[in-house]
Amino acid sequence: MAHSPERPKLYVCTDCQLVYAGTVAEHVEGGSHVYEPPAECRVCDSTSFVETSQWPHRHD
Ligand SMILES: [Zn+2]
Repeated sequence: MAHSPERPKLYVCTDCQLVYAGTVAEHVEGGSHVYEPPAECRVCDSTSFVETSQWPHRHD
C-alpha cells in the first residue's frame, strides 16, 4: 500500500480569506493527527473557518 505523506489541513477565514495551518489537536495512535482551526482570526477576529478543500464549494 502506498504511503502518502501527511500534510496539515489548512483553514480559511471566511471573512478575510486568510489561510491558517491547522493546529494538531490530538495525536492518534497509528500515526494520524487530528487538526483543528484556530480559535479566532488574528486579523478580523472572526471565528468562522472552513477547510481549504471545501472553500471552492462555498460560493454564494
Ligand atoms: Zn479573518
